[in-house]
Amino acid sequence: MRPIEDIYKLLDKPRKVVITMHQKPDADAMGSALGLFHFLKQLGHKPTVISPTNWADWLKWMPDCNGVIDYEFSTEKANSVLDQAEWVFCLDFNVLSRTRYMAPKLRKLTCEKILIDHHQQPESESFTYGISNTEKSSTCEMVYDLIIGSGHADKIDQDVAVCLYAGVMSDTGSFRFPAASAAVHRMVATLKDAGFNHTKIHENLFDNFLENRLRFFGYVLQNKMDIFYEHNAALISIPWKDLVRFEIKTGDTEGLVNFPLTIQGIKMAALIIDRDEEVKCSFRSKGDFDVNTFARKYFEGGGHFNAAGGRSSDTLELTVQRFIEALKENSSQLQ
Ligand code: 5GP
Ligand code: MN
Repeated sequence: MRPIEDIYKLLDKPRKVVITMHQKPDADAMGSALGLFHFLKQLGHKPTVISPTNWADWLKWMPDCNGVIDYEFSTEKANSVLDQAEWVFCLDFNVLSRTRYMAPKLRKLTCEKILIDHHQQPESESFTYGISNTEKSSTCEMVYDLIIGSGHADKIDQDVAVCLYAGVMSDTGSFRFPAASAAVHRMVATLKDAGFNHTKIHENLFDNFLENRLRFFGYVLQNKMDIFYEHNAALISIPWKDLVRFEIKTGDTEGLVNFPLTIQGIKMAALIIDRDEEVKCSFRSKGDFDVNTFARKYFEGGGHFNAAGGRSSDTLELTVQRFIEALKENSSQLQ
């Protein structure tokens, strides 16, 4: 993988560009993709954003989000755009398998693929150019670095700024995580100079759900959360039937895994959800417990040191059992 700086001098020549991100994109994935989209458009490129799957309603306020193609829903259309692409930007994921059903298509493409990502252990051999930096707060910060580094600070208009702000704010837990460096705060000041209403963005992301989602949170925290004080850990496990009962949609479970970490002494929290087609796992930690390694070792996943995800092809019950076994094995590191 050649350094991302090598594309700076190539940005002046307009190209057909596809921008994609990990499946079920969060605010950083969608924000970085649309932020880059608005930047490249100003340079005369023809960018298209393709998401591997659908996405949460609370991302739909982002400028031009309605133009994003859902690969799972519009596969033929997406494939024909991909076939014509000269560049494919891959944002906010480290391995092609994070694009789910789109991964085989991406693998086959012969055009240049460019990685911009902050997850651990990237599949660098799959990309022509790129940057992988686990110290970065967010992929949005890295898109900002690309804009500034390539000498285009003047292209940070409101559309670029709101997308990048949403992603960096969300991936830093509203600027509380250690990765929210002084440089991040300086970047936010520059973005804010584009003149947007940041209060509105917080409301769009966090105060934009339906009643059922809050009732669902109440139900699972009351009935589906187990605390393992001996391991300083907690687990929320959710059967498929509860997702159906509360009419839970994509994005509705975002943030749920953080609640157990508000309990004194809890250093690691897990959320295991039976999504019918697969069992999805989310892990969060505080301090020096490495959930990236944990997710990689036990649940075919990965991510960051303090936030990672994974999956299981076992039943929910078996996955929970395996999680409890894994907790026992790691108990000493959680003390
Ligand atoms: P979440 O629990 O919110 O799905 O994911 C937490 C973090 O881990 C995010 O940065 C996400 O991109 C990453 N992540 C989630 N699932 C996986 C996975 O299966 N593999 C890898 N490598 N990263 C993941
Ligand atoms: Mn991210």
